[in-house]
Order: sequence, then C-alpha cells, then structure tokens
Amino acid sequence: MTISVIALQSSEEHECSDEASQEDEGFMGMSPLLQAHHAMERMEEFVYKVWEGRWRVIPHDVLPDWLKDNDFLLHGHRPPMPSFRACFKSIFRIHTETGNIWTHLLGCVFFLCLGIFYMFRPNISFVAPLQEKVVFGLFFLGAILCLSFSWLFHTVYCHSEGVSRIFSKLDYSGIALLIMGSFVPWLYYSFYCNPQPCFIYLIVICVLGIAAIIVSQWDMFATPQYRGVRAGVFLGLGLSGIIPTLHYVISEGFLKAATIGQIGWLMLMASLYITGAALYAARIPERFFPGKCDIWFHSHQLFHIFVVAGAFVHFHGVSNLQEFRFMIGGGCSEEDAL
Ligand SMILES: [Zn+2]
Repeated sequence: MTISVIALQSSEEHECSDEASQEDEGFMGMSPLLQAHHAMERMEEFVYKVWEGRWRVIPHDVLPDWLKDNDFLLHGHRPPMPSFRACFKSIFRIHTETGNIWTHLLGCVFFLCLGIFYMFRPNISFVAPLQEKVVFGLFFLGAILCLSFSWLFHTVYCHSEGVSRIFSKLDYSGIALLIMGSFVPWLYYSFYCNPQPCFIYLIVICVLGIAAIIVSQWDMFATPQYRGVRAGVFLGLGLSGIIPTLHYVISEGFLKAATIGQIGWLMLMASLYITGAALYAARIPERFFPGKCDIWFHSHQLFHIFVVAGAFVHFHGVSNLQEFRFMIGGGCSEEDAL
C-alpha cells in the first residue's frame, strides 16, 4: 500500500501535495475500517492510472526492496506496476530499463533473422546439410532464447515481486542456454574427425549448463549480494571451453589452431564476454558517476551490448569453421587427428 501512495504522489507531484497533506491529517482520525476502505480506493485509482500509462519515473530510495537492484542508479526507475499492459507500454518510455530492453530486443530480432537466413541457405553449401543445420540451429536457439528471456525479464521486472522472480530465473537460465548452444557447432567442427572427445565435451557442457540452471532457480541467486556469484557462475561455464581449446591446440599445434581453428575469433568472443561480466559485477561506470548513468551507458546496458557482440563474433568464428569443412569436404584422412 505504501508503494501505491508513493507512486501516486510521484505521478501527481506538486499539484497534489497540499491535498495529500490535508488527506493525511484526516486519515489519522479515521476508524481502521474507513482507513482500509480509503487505502483500497487509492490502490484502485493507482492501478487505473498505471493501466492508462499515467506514471512517472521515481528515485531509487523510494523503490520497494525487491526493485532495489543497483543503488548507483539514483533516478529514472519505473514504479511497481502490477499490469502487464503497462509494463509492455513502458518499452517505449525512457527509464533505467529502456536500454536493457532494447539492446536485447533488437539483438533477438537480429539473431532471429540471421537464424532464418542460415536455415534457408541452399543445402549444396554444406557437407551434411541436415546435421549441420541442426548444429547451427541449436546455437541460434540458445541465442534467441537468451535474448528473448532477457528483454522480457527487463520489461516485466517492475510488475510485482513474484513476476520479477520468475522472469529473473528465466533470464539466468537463458544465459546458460546461450553458452550451451554456442559450444555445439564449435565442438562439432573442431573435433569433426574425432567424435569421441566431441561427444564427451558436449555431455560435460550440458551437465554444467543444467547445473547452472538449477543454481539460478535459488531465490537468493537473483539478489544484489550475489551479483559477483552470478557473474562467476556464467563466466566459469563459458571458460570451461578452455579445456577443449587446449586439447585442440596441443593435438593440432598453435599454427593450425590460429588459422583453421579460428582461435583468434574465439579469444575475441571470450574477451567480450569477460569484459561484459566484469563491468556487470563491478557496476562500472555508474560506480564512479552515481546518478550520471541512470538512463544510458550503465553497466547492465554495456553488459547486454557485449553479450550480443560476443554471440555475433562466435557465430562468425563457427561459420568460418563450417566454410573450411565445406572446402575440404567431409572426409577424414589418417593425418586428421581431430
Ligand atoms: Zn539483463
């Protein structure tokens, strides 16, 4: 109820302040039943205003605890809005989540178009069209699910505590799915002539990914105190790729890994993800300029941009691997260790 009063006051601002103080005086003398009735009326009025899109952004210090995520973003927050219609309409308003929503909404549309284009590529461009399209399909599925869970979460985050909790779990699960999906085409082409380690690494990343999804279902995982743990879990999941990379470099040699193996693109992809996760965990740059990055360029937005860039760089690397496989054909000679 406190929240509704705060949001109403913020939406009405000055013109209401006198009236509100008079009402507060009257409020004190009311019977508990009348007070409850009055509060219900205010709540209904508030829900109606939100439904109509008549709300204004509020400062961080009046947010309810479940919406207090980053205390370096001082102003520009959406009030709690228990209406999906209002949450979706807020996509087109300017507030702390606008950049977070659009970076992954546009990223999602981009990967959806890229995925459709890739799936409709003529079969003569592949050695084993069905198998390769399934392998790439899993990467696109991971990327599209991650980005769509993310923009949906940021859109409905202010709906209510329950809704924000459900969607934050989907958001974190999406990151694990993106990482798992990214491993599939990379392992498939890197270990093309040696399916046994490929299969083992696929099982390991699936087990680790599922473990990360299970951990992210824990309610405390979404809290601000666990920001570093969250970054660590997903960074660890992504960096587990170091083991198959070392396997490849040791068996094929650095030169082959750097040219045919696309290690350069993989390194770039890893550094984009690591930079994004580090900014996210340390809340840079808003930590140095509290209140200056409320709407644009705060750490979460930058992290989103680094995720989209990292996923695209990964796609570029694995499509180079695919092209190389197509050039040399599907056969595996005696010398092909991998
Ligand atoms: Zn996000």
